[in-house]
Amino acid sequence: MANKNYYDILGVDKNASADEIKSAYRKLAKKYHPDLNPNNAEAAEKFKEVNEAYEVLSDTTKKANYDQYGSADGPQGFGGFGGSGNSAGGFGGFDFSDIMSNFFGGAGFGNASSFARTGYKGEDIAINMTLTFDEAVFGCKKTFTVNRVENCSYCKGTGAKNGTEYTTCPDCNGTGQVRYTESTLFGRLTRQGICKSCNGTGKKIKTKCEYCNGNGYKRVNANISIDIPAGIDNGQTITMRGSGNAGVRGGQNGDLTIFVKVMPHKMLQRDGYDLLLKVYVPFYTLLLGGKIEIPLARGTTTIDIPENTQNNTTVKLKGKGVKYLNKDMYGNLIVTLVGEAPKNLTKADKETLKKLQSSLGDNNFTRYKSYIKDLSNL
Ligand SMILES: [Zn+2]
Ligand SMILES: [Zn+2]
Repeated sequence: MANKNYYDILGVDKNASADEIKSAYRKLAKKYHPDLNPNNAEAAEKFKEVNEAYEVLSDTTKKANYDQYGSADGPQGFGGFGGSGNSAGGFGGFDFSDIMSNFFGGAGFGNASSFARTGYKGEDIAINMTLTFDEAVFGCKKTFTVNRVENCSYCKGTGAKNGTEYTTCPDCNGTGQVRYTESTLFGRLTRQGICKSCNGTGKKIKTKCEYCNGNGYKRVNANISIDIPAGIDNGQTITMRGSGNAGVRGGQNGDLTIFVKVMPHKMLQRDGYDLLLKVYVPFYTLLLGGKIEIPLARGTTTIDIPENTQNNTTVKLKGKGVKYLNKDMYGNLIVTLVGEAPKNLTKADKETLKKLQSSLGDNNFTRYKSYIKDLSNL
């Protein structure tokens, strides 16, 4: 696309004014318009090219990019021609209505957006959900209420009583779309649009459904159940596809997104799938060894502390962490042992410690010794 010469396509000079570009475009668009050239593939192709050229040259930014880089998207643009995302019935994906609305302010062809866009997706819904630590770690079943638009089940979304009290729309023969003729600058053009008489449904309601008042949808408080997977963490989201608001005219339902908040555990901290615990033990337990009880995600267990354990030693309890989301794997529980120094020593306690101090001597403290050595070598 970037190699096309848009100026040549419109037959204008590179220095042409905006008015000259517009005028050249009008002339060519009329000449090649598919409605004036039925079954003419060559004209259809020309028409597409002309519109593409005009789309770029009529837009200051795209024109500047095109002039400088040879592409409307600028230097990085290999995506080709942007701005024609909606397929508009029969022009090979080119949205003719957008171009027309440039000229006619959207009014010249009636509602410029009334092209054959049947159903569209329902709106998404987002909710917050707070889980306890236990619910997040082990998973749980949650039931909650969401206020959303649902297709009426009594009339199956038709809006007609019992879902049967309707007739085919005579104006569009049930297609939901009509062709109509407009007088325009280019002559008389035949356009296609949504049938206003049935609002694109193709049906005329004889008797309204009493549950939804003929709308075919209702706002309801829906009860929703979900299995929360074990391992979910604070700040994560769960998306339930299709559980948002109902789609319109057969479009997809929106999604329901759940923002998960997890309450903290009283003692354990979560770090991904690992659980962290800092335990203060009497300093002599580190020196002499012993047993301590520690909390698990559920319940408790007892671990052995070997004698001569250094302060801040970590003990890893493999597989005692959190189950991985959707995987048969578990994190670890990592316990950090911190020796607590005693307070309020009696005179007798101090005497005992002094005896210990003199019997141990500095040689028993290798890290302290190396610190003193480093200090003297500064
Ligand atoms: Zn209904
Ligand atoms: Zn109709």
